[in-house]
Amino acid sequence: MAKAKQGVAAEPRIYDTLIVGAGISGLCAAIKMKTAGYHDFRIIEKAQRVGGTWRENTYPGCGCDVPSSLYSFSFAPSSKWSHLFARQPEILSYLEEVSADFGINELIDFGTELDNARWDENQALWVLDTSVGGNKAQILARSVVFATGPITEAQIPALPGLETFKGEMFHSAKWNHDYDLTGKRVAVIGTGASAIQFVPQIQPKVKELHVFQRTAPWVLPKPDMNLGDTSKQLIDKLPVIQQVWRQTVAQSLNAINFGLRNPAALKPVSAAARQLLRVQVKDRALRKAVTPDFTLGCKRILFANNYYPALQADNANLIPHGLVAVDGNTVIAANGERHEVDVIIWGTGFEVSHPPIGRRVMNARGERLSEVWKNSSPEAFLGAALKDVPNAFLVLGPNVLVYDSFISLAEAQLDYIIDGLKTIKARGISRLTVNPTVLARHNARVQKHLKTTVFNSGGCKSYYLDQNGRNFAAWPWSLKALRQRLSSFNLADYDVHYGSAQKRTAA
Ligand SMILES: Cc1cc2nc3c(=O)[nH]c(=O)nc-3n(C[C@H](O)[C@H](O)[C@H](O)COP(=O)(O)OP(=O)(O)OC[C@H]3O[C@@H](n4cnc5c(N)ncnc54)[C@H](O)[C@@H]3O)c2cc1C
Repeated sequence: MAKAKQGVAAEPRIYDTLIVGAGISGLCAAIKMKTAGYHDFRIIEKAQRVGGTWRENTYPGCGCDVPSSLYSFSFAPSSKWSHLFARQPEILSYLEEVSADFGINELIDFGTELDNARWDENQALWVLDTSVGGNKAQILARSVVFATGPITEAQIPALPGLETFKGEMFHSAKWNHDYDLTGKRVAVIGTGASAIQFVPQIQPKVKELHVFQRTAPWVLPKPDMNLGDTSKQLIDKLPVIQQVWRQTVAQSLNAINFGLRNPAALKPVSAAARQLLRVQVKDRALRKAVTPDFTLGCKRILFANNYYPALQADNANLIPHGLVAVDGNTVIAANGERHEVDVIIWGTGFEVSHPPIGRRVMNARGERLSEVWKNSSPEAFLGAALKDVPNAFLVLGPNVLVYDSFISLAEAQLDYIIDGLKTIKARGISRLTVNPTVLARHNARVQKHLKTTVFNSGGCKSYYLDQNGRNFAAWPWSLKALRQRLSSFNLADYDVHYGSAQKRTAA
């Protein structure tokens, strides 16, 4: 790293590539680069540990909702999972182990945050301003991989009177483990993926649990299972079990994906969800209140066996309305229902349509990406290449979301990205940007095909849609089709300049 001020003026070190972020995507990028013989890179990570999502989210019950055989790197299967669906602490340990095993830790500058990234047209370089503790440092790189995460920014609604609340409050992504919930009156706001995991965990210890539900989610039975020592030993000895398990899960998710594109095919799955409701929710009024009013799949499908039972406990109260105001320690629902509480837990999800990295990156025209995206949401080519952002790729960017493991998506994208980085290097390319016509054509097709999917037509307001109702998140075809599109880097999709920075030749 080139320090901003040093005694002797040395030639600044220029990396081929800088990776920003050491979550699943950043680690995967580094491992795949090493494996591909691409060694001149460095990783910066603002935190002191790897893990991203799985380092930050530590709420009770936190775990993945995709079986771990698939929610793990294809090149690093594990036989240590305690359950079919792993819990957060073991996912974090897994990522730390993989990072150590593949020799990635020593390539990471921990505690180093990217503050500002700008493209220097004259030098054909990224100039990356970072802070390390209180100190500033600059890094130069020919290309950048932004592996800064798709679901990171906790969202808390600005509600009237919130400033008058004198109790404790925290978001599920920033769980306050020092606060003892025992015997407390608790308001949980939201019934999304995180809330349905932590509600059953906290319900037995609190005095009162008021769950504010704006929209009832579809909840499917979770086919989870404790994997005892014998199963783990067997999986360890016979890797074929792991492979078959992975393939079976992938096929099931592929079938769900087919349904998301052809909503009529999901009727049997909705029937299973309704059956769970009939079996688990005896009270008719409650059952009606927690029955979704949109097509299954329109919002992320949730899996839980213990959520509905928790809602029916004596100390639990489902309020089928959003929270609209706070008055002192009283929380007020849209229907006027009021409760005095000691703590508010925000299960209100994340801001995803305006990725925080946009505030840190300027495009080649000198515009900050957050400004470019202000009135809409990001657009990219294959979720990776952004308009006017040379020699840079985003991992898990817009319109690549398929109902599958994000790890599978990141792996597919990174094969493409690394192919691109190697192409830049091997061909002496000084500047590469996605061709605007290719980008526009690609996104027009994506948007056209999204129209008939359940995400757009299922009658819900989900996080896949931005403030204008444009679906910026989903990929409208299968994972196989995504993999195919990402299987090779086609230089014809890009505007390319060769040679030294000052004297460029158009391709
Ligand atoms: C609670 C929760 C549960 C989830 N469950 C599942 C699941 O079951 N299945 C699934 O497929 N997906 C799930 N996801 C989605 C999950 O985000 C992805 O699976 C995956 O973890 C994303 O990894 P990532 O590396 O791309 O991003 P992240 O994990 O967010 O990592 C990004 C990293 O970049 C670093 N960073 C960001 N900005 C900067 C900066 N300016 N400078 C330096 N470093 C920076 C961050 O500190 C972080 O370490 C879940 C998400 C959440 C929040």
